[in-house]
Amino acid sequence: MASFTDFLFAPPTPVSLPILGSDQRFPVHRVYCIGRNYGDHVREMGGDVKRSSPVFFMKPADALWLDGAVPYPGATTELHHEVEMVVALGSGGRDIASADALACVHAYGVGLDLTRRDLQNRAKADGAPWDSAKGFDASAPVSALTPASVCGHPLHAALALEVNGTPRQQVDIGEMIWALPEIIHELSKLWTLQPGDVIFTGTPAGVGPLLRGDRFHAALGDIARLEGHIA
Ligand code: MN
Repeated sequence: MASFTDFLFAPPTPVSLPILGSDQRFPVHRVYCIGRNYGDHVREMGGDVKRSSPVFFMKPADALWLDGAVPYPGATTELHHEVEMVVALGSGGRDIASADALACVHAYGVGLDLTRRDLQNRAKADGAPWDSAKGFDASAPVSALTPASVCGHPLHAALALEVNGTPRQQVDIGEMIWALPEIIHELSKLWTLQPGDVIFTGTPAGVGPLLRGDRFHAALGDIARLEGHIA
């Protein structure tokens, strides 16, 4: 068993998220994301609404970004916003039944699945992985978390994004193709879910560009809000 004195250099600081009303922080393990989870967004991207199997991808835990100034990433000319409900797991497991899934959820938040759309479109055309389109530095601005013990487990809530005061995306989370218990069930068939896992649950229609200087305001009902700008 290695002690900390054995590290070649200082290990990275654990990624963690603030919890509203608490001095404790939520330590992050992994960030899972589901794609194509609202029908109107699937259609705007030119896809067919299918329920055969969900599309999952990951972002690095340290892509989570809490500073209000979000750096415009390099290597793209088409940075897109995707507002999403964010879910933080307090427990996990494998092959979790849908009926047991919500008991794993500790807290809810709202975030942006920032996307280099030009790189994603190229990756789709080439049949290549999405990592450089989705998992770049600061690609997951996220709010503070609200515990389910405070807000319950919302079946319906308004998920909304304004950019420079203009509405861009709005939906009720009840319209998700894969509801949260199904997302957790499906993820747990593919990975062993752990306390500290964070899930981005998909975006509705209205994705579009963010430019330097744009101000964004995202909200999940009165549960969570996220404000910032592109620097
Ligand atoms: Mn997304």
